[in-house]
Amino acid sequence: TPVLEVDGLAVDYENGVRALDGATLTVSAGETVGIVGESGSGKSTLGAAVGGLLPSSARITSGAVRVDGAEVHRLRPKALRALRRDRLGFVFQEPIGSLDPTMRVGKQVALALRGRGGDVLSHLDRVRLSDPARVARAYPHQLSGGMAQRVAIAMAMACEPEILVADEPTAALDAQIRDDVLDVIFSLAAAAGTTILWLSHDLPAVGKRCSRIAVMYGGRVVESGTAAGVFGAP
Ligand code: ADP
Ligand code: ADP
Repeated sequence: TPVLEVDGLAVDYENGVRALDGATLTVSAGETVGIVGESGSGKSTLGAAVGGLLPSSARITSGAVRVDGAEVHRLRPKALRALRRDRLGFVFQEPIGSLDPTMRVGKQVALALRGRGGDVLSHLDRVRLSDPARVARAYPHQLSGGMAQRVAIAMAMACEPEILVADEPTAALDAQIRDDVLDVIFSLAAAAGTTILWLSHDLPAVGKRCSRIAVMYGGRVVESGTAAGVFGAP
């Protein structure tokens, strides 16, 4: 069974926008898939649909999303929560949205790790935070954007998810730290056997790192293959 199947998925927002219009994508375990396409092509909606995270203004009008063969949008709330907690990870453009502003970082990471062993400081060390003890004592708003994104990655990867959905994870970061943050994502995912869905409009970066590129246009995946196949050999 593929780890992820997006099968003819159509999603409408209640304002009448058809964000996905029969998107199809099949992903095997351990693939690193770059989903590229112009703004508005449906990348974020696809990423949200994979995790059952579509807003209430969105309606699936046809098709399905299956993770390990289970249809995400037919799961009962408890099973959907378990799927998100144990088998999926998400990283978004704005790390602060993934963090609880009222809780020290160390406590949030401990909660994300709960029952899985591994201590907070070594987990923060793995995302290359230079002073994990200080970060653990901090509240999210005291961190720089790059530090907060590393913490968000640490939390997303705490359960060693089957799939990590990374929606423009470096778009809000300074250019000089983007590669380092991507190194962290890709090395943690490789160690955990996590499949990556990286939504991006940075074609060169995606082409350099992903085993496969899926190109979206008008709410569909219009092309899928290796970087050389999709962009043409250099
Ligand atoms: P991308 O991530 O490629 O920019 P999106 O999935 O965000 O694409 O958007 C696809 C289409 O759906 C766009 O036309 C966008 O304006 C629209 N859209 C996205 N989110 C919403 C929303 N919450 N409500 C209404 N329309 C939306
Ligand atoms: P992206 O970086 O994915 O292109 P956008 O800047 O298009 O994101 O959208 C940012 C947020 O606004 C998302 O939560 C998206 O769902 C929402 N959004 C996008 N387009 C619309 C729209 N036409 N109406 C309402 N919300 C939208």
